[in-house]
Order: sequence, then C-alpha cells, then structure tokens
Amino acid sequence: MVDLSKGRIIAVNGPLVTCEIGQGVDVLQNEVAYVNCQGTLLKSEVIRVRGRQVDMQVFESTTGMTVGDEVEFSGQLLSATLGPGILGMIYDGLQNPLTQLENDQNFFLKRGQYLNALDEEKKWEFTPSAKEGAIVKAGQYLGSVPESLFKHHITVPLALLGTWKIIKIMPPGSYKLSDTIALLKNTDDGHELSVTFKQEWPVKMPVRAYKERLLPNRQLLTQCRLIDVFFPLAEGGTSCIPGPFGAGKTVLQQIISRYAEADVVIIVACGERAGEVVETIREFPELEDPKTGGSLMNRTVIICNTSSMPVAAREASIYTGVTIGEYYRSLGLKVLLLADSTSRWAQALRESSARLEEIPGEEAFPAYLESRIAAVYERAGLVRLNDGDTGSLTLIGTVSPAGGNFEEPVTQNTLKVVGAFYGLSRSRSDQRRYPAIDPLISWSLYLRQMQESLEERHPGWVTLVEEVHRLLYAGSEVHQMMLVVGEEGIALDDLVIYLKSEIVDAVCLQQDSFDTVDRATSLERQVSDFLLLMEMVRLQFTFADKEEARREMTALHNCFFQMKYCPFQGEAYQKYRGEIESVLARQGADRK
Ligand code: ADP
Ligand code: MG
Repeated sequence: MVDLSKGRIIAVNGPLVTCEIGQGVDVLQNEVAYVNCQGTLLKSEVIRVRGRQVDMQVFESTTGMTVGDEVEFSGQLLSATLGPGILGMIYDGLQNPLTQLENDQNFFLKRGQYLNALDEEKKWEFTPSAKEGAIVKAGQYLGSVPESLFKHHITVPLALLGTWKIIKIMPPGSYKLSDTIALLKNTDDGHELSVTFKQEWPVKMPVRAYKERLLPNRQLLTQCRLIDVFFPLAEGGTSCIPGPFGAGKTVLQQIISRYAEADVVIIVACGERAGEVVETIREFPELEDPKTGGSLMNRTVIICNTSSMPVAAREASIYTGVTIGEYYRSLGLKVLLLADSTSRWAQALRESSARLEEIPGEEAFPAYLESRIAAVYERAGLVRLNDGDTGSLTLIGTVSPAGGNFEEPVTQNTLKVVGAFYGLSRSRSDQRRYPAIDPLISWSLYLRQMQESLEERHPGWVTLVEEVHRLLYAGSEVHQMMLVVGEEGIALDDLVIYLKSEIVDAVCLQQDSFDTVDRATSLERQVSDFLLLMEMVRLQFTFADKEEARREMTALHNCFFQMKYCPFQGEAYQKYRGEIESVLARQGADRK
C-alpha cells in the first residue's frame, strides 16, 4: 500500500528539490514537507506541483541530500504561530526564536533544528470578556491577557468561517498557551471546537477577519520632519525607500522604528551585509523606548535573515513578518512593519524562479515579480474589526537598487503599489544632508488623501506644504544656474529664493539623528516651527543688493538653525524665536 503522505526525491538542484509522489497522494501548493536527509528532517515548502512531480524549496542547506531520500508531507501550509508572547522576540524567517540560542548557538540553528515560536510553559493571566451563549465570528474578542504595555485580546481563531456560539468560557485565571479557554459550537453544523491562546495562520494568505477596509486618512507620525511635514505617511499606508548602498536606508528605518507613533513595530531584516543583522539584534534590545523609558524591545519583533541563509528562508521572512503584523492589527493595534531590504527578498524569488527554469522577465526577475510585490504591500491597511475597533498595519520597505538606479524592476514595481515614495539620493548623502530623502523626487499620495485631518491642525496646511515644495524646486533651479553663471549672473530675487530654500533644507529637511533634541520632533513642535518657517518663506523681503540679502538671510538662517537644537519652548528656544519674529516683522514693515 502506498503511504499517502510520502514521496521520494528524484532531483536535487541546490535549495530546490524535486520529488515524485505515488498515485492518490494529494499535495497542496505551499504545503510544508520534510525531507529525511541522513536521519535529519529538513523543512521545505512545496512551490510547484506538476502531475506526480513536486518541486520544493528547502529551508536549509541540502548538502548530503540524494535521490531516493524520503519526503513526508505535513498537510499543513507554511504557517506562523500567533498568540501572546511574540513581542520582544527575535525570530528567523521560519519563526524560530533566536533569542534562546544567543549563548550556545551564536545566533545560528543546527540544521534540522526547529523550535517552538512561543513559550508553551509560560502562564498568562486571562480575563474573559465574552459571555457564554453569545454568537461570535472570527476575530471577535473572547477575553484578554496583559502583554507588555497593552491588553492582548484573545480572539475567535481568525481562520474560522461562519458563526459560532460560545458554549463555555473559562473563568479568570492563569493558563498556558495550549490550555482550552473557550468552547465554541458552529451554529450551522453543530461541530465543536476548543480555543486556546495560540493560533496558526498560513503566511502567504492575507488575514480577512475584519468588517471592512477603510481609506487611510489619519497620519502615522514618525517624528521625522521630512516625512511628516513634506511627505506624510498614513496609518495603514505603504511606502518605499529606495536608495543606493550607503545612502542611509537602514539608519532611516531604525530612526522610524524608534520614534514612530506605533503600538507595535516589526522589523524584517534581510541584511545586506552579514554583520548588519547581528548588529541589529545586539543593539536593539539595548535601546530605550522614547514613549515609556523601558526597553524598545517590549513592543518590537525582529525577524532576521542574513544573505548567508538559504534563499527560501529569506523569502519566508517577509511573509512571516506581515502575518504577525496582521495578527496584532486584528487586536486593534497600530502596527508598523519595516522591511529592509526587499531587494534581497526579490533576489530570492529570482533565484528560485531560475532554478524552476521559468521564463524570465526583466533583469531575469520572474514575470510574477509585480504581483508578488503587490500582494505583500496590499496586506497593509487600516481596518474596522468585527468588534468595532480599528487596527492598522503600515508597511515601509527599503529597496537597494544596484548603483542607485531607480529604473530597475524591484523599485519600479514597488512604486506602482505604494502610497509614498522616499527616494534617497547619493548627492544628498555625500553632502551629509541626512536623512538623504531627496525632496525633488519624493512624493506622498497621502498628503491630499489626508487633507481633512491634516488641516485640523492648521487651515490651509496642505497648500502651505505644496508651496514649500515649489520653493524647493525653484531653489534647486537657481542653484543649478549659479553653478554655471556664478552668483553675479543671477537676479537678486532668484538669490533670495535660493537662500530661502537653503534655510528650509537646513532647518526642516535635515534632521540630526545623533542630537537628543533634533532627532525626533513632536507634532506640536512640527506645526509651530513649520508655520514660523512659512512666514519667512512667504515674506517678500526687500534688500538693497545681494550683499545685504546674503547678510540678512545668513543671520536668519543661523537663528533658525540654533533654534532647532533647543528644547521646544525652553528659554533658548524662545530667544531665537523672538529674534526671528522681530526680523520678519521689521522686513514686513519695510514693505509697507
Ligand atoms: P544603507 O542601508 O542605505 O546602505 P546605512 O543606513 O547603513 O545605508 O547608512 C550608511 C552610513 O551613512 C551610516 O553608517 C551613517 O554613518 C551614515 N548615515 C546614514 N543616515 C544617517 C543619518 N540620518 N544621520 C547621520 N548619519 C547617517
Ligand atoms: Mg542597509
């Protein structure tokens, strides 16, 4: 008799293996299988089924694997384990916790070693909130346990279809991850199911256990002025940060992960350099959470892969991250996911596709690159949950195009789906104008989309932002001209435009990530400082000649520059602000 869950390897091609299955064996796309390689079971994922031949990618080195090795299919799709205790964890792409290995394994697992994603022994204080007899559906809250700073709701499993009656719910008390905390009965067919704190979700499928998707129309504050003021990000929105190597993508993501106003931050680190990921793992737990003073790790999850790990594991990491993000969103939280760099992930796709001998598209990326990228970014969003709360998942991905050429397929396909584009430029990073987001090429669709909520802070806000965008373009044109004809060759008015744009650049766009005051700017301060800056931008200065223009504008420049390093509304801040206001008032009076 044939074993209906087994097959045998017929070809090994690097991380891609092909196995043959017998008549009647049913294999699912994305099903997990284990290859028995000299007694060690190696985890793999089915990526193509053609008749009785099954192609699988192995998440481990396939050294020693030979034709004839036995394959066992699990019947389960590649899934993430979800439940309380994810926060603070550092996982690899398959959700093996790396924190536990820190000492003995030096961050790397032995081949064939897989660990529980969550602590099965830990007890959680459960408080029920739903009532016996209530009719519920997927995603509705049954109760909660405290996890770090907030209530971690325990939901009706996200995968359940139809409506269910709560026939039993456990009283308050401490329970382990796999203890039954509720019994549900299907209202149609009467079948019963016990609910625990833990659930599984197939990583490549979006979670849909919510009432509706909402248009992202609220800002997610990052405290980075260039983003918040010029190219705002929406809660539940998406953005892409492409930039050449060394332009500051990783540093920018780290700043955002620390200061953005999110409840939960998920970092998917597909390192460019092998050491980079280890640095992230070492440094992050030491960082202080600016919101609470506790460890930043309490609200962070890190999923990491280095370029030295097998490609399949790298590909999985982004899906694992997004799935964890959707899970915390379904608990009514504001989740921010940062993926650095998605180019590594796309390269993993390219590698698998080449091994499958698929017809290559542009730059040898598979033709389905665009739809894969879209499928990941589409999982972000602001949603109304079945219980009425809202939750959001905001996604920011970096792209590292070779040579900083934004025309390549990964950047281009990402730009088609995201709502904001923060393009880093080599020339700005060379001039150490950090963050090196180039204001002349970047954009955010959310500026207009969020107009109503942005203008609650100040009427006409969006118009002001668009006006300063125009000033930056004009300033750059004058600058180009000056490079050719020198300062003597341009008109006085043009010089003033240029000097104004330089002030905007220095005091608003550039932000010093090493300065304790400047590195993060609160909303209140952003609004107040920006409005003052705009008074300067809008003022028609009257100067006798270029020399006077230079002198006066340099003095203003200095005041603004000093002010940005002073604590908001402190004595020094007020002093510089007063000086600026009096110069602006004098210039304004001169006009009359
Ligand atoms: P990328 O990830 O794009 O390759 P990194 O983020 O690693 O680049 O940045 C490279 C270097 O540039 C950093 O080590 C740092 O010295 C400098 N840098 C980048 N961003 C900033 C910033 N905001 N402030 C100060 N220095 C920065
Ligand atoms: Mg980097």
